[in-house]
Amino acid sequence: MNVLLLGSGGREHALAWKIRNSSQLNNLYIAPGNAGTALHGTNVPFGVTDFHEMKRFVLNNDVDMVIVGPEDPLVQGVSDFFRKDEDICHVSVIGPSANGARLEGSKDFAKDFMKRHNIPTAAHKTITPANIEEGDRFLESLQPPYVLKADGLAAGKGVLITPDLKQAKLQIRDMLAGMFGEASRKVVIEEFLSGIECSVFVLTDGKSYKILPVAKDYKRVGEGDTGLNTGGMGAVSPVPFADEVFMEKVRLRVVEPTIQGLRREGIDYKGFVFLGLINVNGDPKVIEYNVRLGDPETEVVIPRIKSDLLELFIGVTTETLNEKKLEIDERHAATVMMVSGGYPQAYEKGKVISGLEEVSDSLVFHAGTAFKERNVVSAGGRVLSVTSLGATLKDALKTSYKNIAKIRFEQSYCRKDIGQDIELL
Ligand code: AMP
Repeated sequence: MNVLLLGSGGREHALAWKIRNSSQLNNLYIAPGNAGTALHGTNVPFGVTDFHEMKRFVLNNDVDMVIVGPEDPLVQGVSDFFRKDEDICHVSVIGPSANGARLEGSKDFAKDFMKRHNIPTAAHKTITPANIEEGDRFLESLQPPYVLKADGLAAGKGVLITPDLKQAKLQIRDMLAGMFGEASRKVVIEEFLSGIECSVFVLTDGKSYKILPVAKDYKRVGEGDTGLNTGGMGAVSPVPFADEVFMEKVRLRVVEPTIQGLRREGIDYKGFVFLGLINVNGDPKVIEYNVRLGDPETEVVIPRIKSDLLELFIGVTTETLNEKKLEIDERHAATVMMVSGGYPQAYEKGKVISGLEEVSDSLVFHAGTAFKERNVVSAGGRVLSVTSLGATLKDALKTSYKNIAKIRFEQSYCRKDIGQDIELL
C-alpha cells in the first residue's frame, strides 16, 4: 500500500516509525512531516488542510490510504472531501467524518451526545449571549472551582478553571465577547471533577472497536505539575489505577455507548476516539472526547502495540476490525519531552541538536524539528520525545533520562519527575 500520513509532530513520527515496519507498506509519505518522519518515509511539503494539493498528490502517487494525525483536517471535513469526490473516493481515510469530528470540534455537541447516550460526565450548561443570566445561576448552584470551556477548537487553550465565582462570571462574558475568537462564542460551564486523569484511545471501524493501552500525560511545564499548561511534557503507559475493574467500567459505560451512539445517530466514524477520562472514586467520567490520537500519549501507546498497525487500519476501512488481533507488549513505556527553553511562552528555534546518534535503547520521536544545512535543528516548543520500554516504569524512565543526558541543544529543558507520582501510588 501507498500511505499518506498527515501531520508533523511526535505523534506522527511514532505512527511513521510503526507503519514503516508493516508488511503491507510500499511507500510512506508524510505531509508536512519533520526531520524524524523523514527517516521512515518521504516528507512532502503541503499543509494538513490543503485538500486540493492533497488530492493532486494522492492521484499522482497512487496513494491508497490517508491517515490523519491532527484534528483540524477532520473538523474541516477531510474524510468527507475524499468520500464525495469520485476521483479519490477509492482512497480510504483513517479519521471520522466532519459530523463525527464534532465530538472534538464542539464541546456542546459532545456534552449533548453524552447526555443522549447516558455516558458519565460532569454536569454542564451551554451559554450563549442570549442566556448569560442562566449561566450565572448555574455557576451559583455549583461548588468552586468553576470550569469554563470554549465550545470550539482553541488549540488546547480553551479551558479556564477559577476558584472565584465573581471572576468566573466575568470570564464567561470575556469568552463570549471573543476571548478565544469564534471558538468561545458559545461557552460550556462544567461541574469540577476531582480525581486522577488518564487517556484511553479506541480504534473503531464504526461497528466494532479495539481499546488500546491506557496512558497518562503530564500537561504542566513545571515539576510537581505546576506552572503553565503545555501540549504535554511526558507520558507513561500503563497506568496502575486503570486496572481491569476500572477498564471494564470504561468499556461498558463509555466505549460501548459511544460506538453504539455514533452508529445509531448515523454518524460515519472510522478512526480513533480519544477519551480524556477522570477516575472519580473508582468510576470513570469523560472530561473530553478527541477524534484523533493524543500527543505525547501516542509516543508510549504505539510502541506497546505489537500487531501490524496497517493491518488494523485495513480492518477499519473494510469494517473487519473484529477479525484482527491486537497484541500488546506487557512492558512499561515512558516518554519524556525535551522542549525549548521558555516554552510554552516565547522561545527560540533553530538550535542545532547533537548527540542523537549516541542514544541507545530508547526511541527518539521528533516533534518540532527540521533540517538546516545537514543539521537537525529545533523548530518548535516541544522538540523531541524520548521513549523507553522497561520491565518496570522505573526502568523505562531511567533509560529515557540516561539518553536525554546525551542529547544536546541550547536552552533545552525537560521535567525530571515524569511518572514519579505513579511510582508513589
Ligand atoms: P479539556 O481541554 O476539556 O481536556 O480540558 C483541559 C484540562 O482541564 C483537562 O485535562 C483537565 O485537567 C481540566 N478539566 C477539564 N474539565 C474538567 C472538569 N469538569 N473537572 C476538572 N477538571 C477539568
